[in-house]
Amino acid sequence: MAESKREALRYRIGWTRPNDHLFDIRIEFTAGRRNPELSLPVWRPGRYLRQNYAANVRQWRARIAGGPALPMDKTEPSRWRVQAARGDRIVVEYRFYAGVLDAGSSFLDESEAYFNGSNLFMMVALQRQRPIDMEIVHPAVWKVETQLESTDEPPGAVRRRARGTTWRARDFDHLIDSPTIASPSLITHAFEESGATIRLVFQSAEGIDTEQYVEPVRRMVRFQAALFGGLPLRDYRFLYHVGDRWHGVEHEDSSSIMLRRDQLEGARPGDEGYDHFLAITAHEFFHLWNVKRIVPLKFTPYDYSAETPSRLLWAMEGITSYYGERTLLRAGLWTMERYLRHLAGEIQTLESAPGREFLSLAQASFDGWLQDPAQMHDKSNAWISFYNKGEIVSALLDLEIRRQTRGRRSLDDVMRLLWQDYGRKRRGMPEDGIERAVAKVVGKTVRRFFERFIEGVQPLPYDELLRSAGIEMVWKRRRAGEFWLGVIAERREGRLVVESVVAGSPASAAGLRPNDEIIAVGQRRIASKNHLDRVLKNNGFKPVPILLARNREIIQREIAPAEDPSFSLELRPRGKATPAEERRRREWLETDE
Ligand SMILES: [Zn+2]
Repeated sequence: MAESKREALRYRIGWTRPNDHLFDIRIEFTAGRRNPELSLPVWRPGRYLRQNYAANVRQWRARIAGGPALPMDKTEPSRWRVQAARGDRIVVEYRFYAGVLDAGSSFLDESEAYFNGSNLFMMVALQRQRPIDMEIVHPAVWKVETQLESTDEPPGAVRRRARGTTWRARDFDHLIDSPTIASPSLITHAFEESGATIRLVFQSAEGIDTEQYVEPVRRMVRFQAALFGGLPLRDYRFLYHVGDRWHGVEHEDSSSIMLRRDQLEGARPGDEGYDHFLAITAHEFFHLWNVKRIVPLKFTPYDYSAETPSRLLWAMEGITSYYGERTLLRAGLWTMERYLRHLAGEIQTLESAPGREFLSLAQASFDGWLQDPAQMHDKSNAWISFYNKGEIVSALLDLEIRRQTRGRRSLDDVMRLLWQDYGRKRRGMPEDGIERAVAKVVGKTVRRFFERFIEGVQPLPYDELLRSAGIEMVWKRRRAGEFWLGVIAERREGRLVVESVVAGSPASAAGLRPNDEIIAVGQRRIASKNHLDRVLKNNGFKPVPILLARNREIIQREIAPAEDPSFSLELRPRGKATPAEERRRREWLETDE
């Protein structure tokens, strides 16, 4: 059956009324067996949470190509079966609702069609490895950007159809790893760097100075390419949407990134929005190695039908976060002071998270599938971010390697080794792959480091390791003498409502719960968080009555404020550093430019 093995499946995506947000999808294939099955992923690579995309599929049906209808039923919530004979040419059609826009979703309206195949393309069972021709039927003036290769005739040739363009994917995995935007208003900048064409593609970017990012992105690409000894691709696309949040998703030869308009408008170098743009861009680009090519064995091949836990997510996301900001530093876009300010902020976040005392980095990685707030209650006390702690531990691991090898080796060598051993050879990385690579680079076991700080919850060795690089930590009480209850509250419709309660806090002792409305403290009707702070200030540390509304009942409790435990952290070069520490600091924090 060599002939049919090469035969491509045909997928077509189009729409009739774009503002209904419904894609019309058509899949044509030859049944490789009797009663072929099709399924939709229940999650997508890059977001390790069950998403059940099948919830947005409507009006599915099947027929013989050019012939009669065939029965098509579900066998599971995300799985369908068509009653047909082996060898039948089958057409499956369905609609997919795409009305929510983020980097990993799909979205359709009159201004654009954006889709992630992982959301909306069904996989034909047993035909996952066949090539796929995907046709996009779109208005003639719209342009398409995707990492897939076009199979259309060169310009000037007579087109089969007035509209519609066709793209070739190696196989199903490649198809659904290739986010695609079609729109009449894309802004594109392109440049050549390290042997590849890099494109910055913007949707909805009116009023944003997109051009100013080209040179910084080029420098970041150059730095990362040099780190790994070259780029493993010829073309790369950043697909940016200007929207209302920061969010990025990595892919093999592209990334999809959502930007925050309110922070980008008017942003100039040094502004928060500008820095955020560069940091998220550097992070996603680094993923083209770390997670897209250096891939945990547990993900090879991806099982789209079920949760796939790995204890390596901290390394996939944490090391990538570490190199994201380090790219800004080492490409000369950030000063050492700016970088240290960032790292201090990350440490502050981790050291304020109650979960750090019992949830290890490896366990948070494994349990990432459970962190949906709809399922994990009390997340603010229970959870730690494997991005956040992963980045900090990566920094400490880098310093540990530099210390043990007297500055001869670093985490850069580990990344190059991982690329050689797994990425370049297209081999999945076993769960102990990072530890083994670090041990190889250092020349001896690093079990203790992994046991204590990655598998365990020991306090992190900041002082010791930062000092080895001539950096000191200055902790300060941020609000010394101020009163604190331990509630996170927000105003909802003019009422102050408890969002979360810090475990062990005065609010917890007084029995406050999420969703309680805080009506009054002492004799004061509370209008806002600021008002609450002022009332507490007048009250001092004395126990005070607090009036709550819960489930349409009024509840009175007494609460005794404590001193605000929050702190700030500064990282700065140590005045009395030894020459060896100063040398290490230069090696660690000096720009390459
Ligand atoms: Zn990431």
